[in-house]
Amino acid sequence: MSTCCNCGNNDPDLYYYWDAPLEEDYDWRDNFPLVDCFCEICFDIANSEGKIKWIDDEDPFKRDSN
Ligand SMILES: [Zn+2]
Repeated sequence: MSTCCNCGNNDPDLYYYWDAPLEEDYDWRDNFPLVDCFCEICFDIANSEGKIKWIDDEDPFKRDSN
């Protein structure tokens, strides 16, 4: 079972994003060096705050928030 390193959520209905050991299109280590796993809620919040770096700047959730 996955558990969010940020909020401790382990709801099986949520999607979980892992930064390690997989090579993913996103990287949050600069802002969250100790987080291995984000639930989709924390991931979305961090992403909306610009704290998740996308490889090649390909952010599938990109919003016109500027
Ligand atoms: Zn979370």
